[in-house]
Amino acid sequence: MKFIADLHIHSKYSRATAKNLDFENIHIAAQKKGISVIATGDFTHPAWFSEIKEKCNPLENGLFKLKDSILRHADQQVPPVCQKGLQFILSCEISNIYKKNGKVRKNHNIVFLPDMQSAERFNRKMERIGNIRSDGRPVLGLDARDLLEIVLETSETAFLIPAHIWTPWFSIFGSKSGFDALEECFEDLTPHIFALETGLSSDPEMNWRVSNLKGLTLVSNSDAHSMEKIAREANLFDTELSFSGIRSALMDKKRSLFKGTFEFFPEEGKYHLDGHRKCGVRLKPEETQKYQGLCPKCGKPLTLGVLHRISELADLNEGKRPDGAIPFYRLLPLSEILSEVLEVGPASKKVKAAQDKIIKKYGPELTILHELPLKSLEGIDIPLFKEALRRVRNYEIFIQPGYDGEFGTVRIFTDYERRKLLGQRDLFALKEAEKATLNME
Ligand SMILES: [Zn+2]
Ligand SMILES: [Zn+2]
Repeated sequence: MKFIADLHIHSKYSRATAKNLDFENIHIAAQKKGISVIATGDFTHPAWFSEIKEKCNPLENGLFKLKDSILRHADQQVPPVCQKGLQFILSCEISNIYKKNGKVRKNHNIVFLPDMQSAERFNRKMERIGNIRSDGRPVLGLDARDLLEIVLETSETAFLIPAHIWTPWFSIFGSKSGFDALEECFEDLTPHIFALETGLSSDPEMNWRVSNLKGLTLVSNSDAHSMEKIAREANLFDTELSFSGIRSALMDKKRSLFKGTFEFFPEEGKYHLDGHRKCGVRLKPEETQKYQGLCPKCGKPLTLGVLHRISELADLNEGKRPDGAIPFYRLLPLSEILSEVLEVGPASKKVKAAQDKIIKKYGPELTILHELPLKSLEGIDIPLFKEALRRVRNYEIFIQPGYDGEFGTVRIFTDYERRKLLGQRDLFALKEAEKATLNME
């Protein structure tokens, strides 16, 4: 069975997350996006764990579903074309901070478990190591290798995926406190790692350049801290809808059960290029080299982004597609497309209303972005939307890349193109003005 899964999100109990991230709202938002399986997130947090027990029923397949009474109520807020059901996979993210080989290491890891009994056992072990009550994503002084060992001891089918593996501060390969190879981190247990999360600032193509990652499944998840962000990256499966189905698809070396990922444009991620946000300095890896890694404005070390870090560890040529590489599709969220088309913020009421209208008529967001034939949008009464979607699908967009914690920004049309497409005449002056600004960048 074909389905889309988002395997990494957080609940309202994680730091810096939306207060309304509860099961009902996740159920509503995920179906509107077109997701069939979503992470519970945060199961180590006692309050969230109680909510799982209170609001969800375990299914035979190792996944969970909202209880009927809650589900019926929540579904009233989901357009009928999007009501395809949603199942939860027990998961949490651990922030590991520890010393290894003379350096402080900080990395995030996502843990997946097949049942509540295992989760209870796992939580008891975590509780002995550190504080799991103050943050849904607990920070523990635990070596990632030892975390993996605990995961493997907890249940035969439990597994661990290193999270957003390239982000500078908190990831296995991060420029600030990461390792250079998987084996350095997981040692003897490395063979138990079969999937890696590429994170928003990198895409599979960038990862293909690192031979150390060969044979590993590259997954993409939203790491959502609010409902709007759910499924901004996701995974396409064609397998049995079950815990073991998902696990074996991720382990499958033949690549027939894992069909690919939906990706953010990596330049849009917060840590794509190098730089200093406070100094307004954004640099490409070559430029950073020229400045010997120091900020030309303040003289302190620059935050090296994902592109830089991948180039350091890359040993294969750019643009070479390895055998058996899984396809991926770059997407721009519907809210961002509408924000550009309507010339208002992506979180504005106007965008939300348009988004709801489109979803109600054409189905879940990912279906619209990825596969809806453009000709079926012929009659849509939002000018430029169809053309905007066409451009996004063909990657005909302009991006100012993100750096040092600042998201990249995307534009689909220049002002000139917008007016032209909307049928205004005599645009010579505007075109000249725009040329001047584009040249300045
Ligand atoms: Zn994380
Ligand atoms: Zn600086």
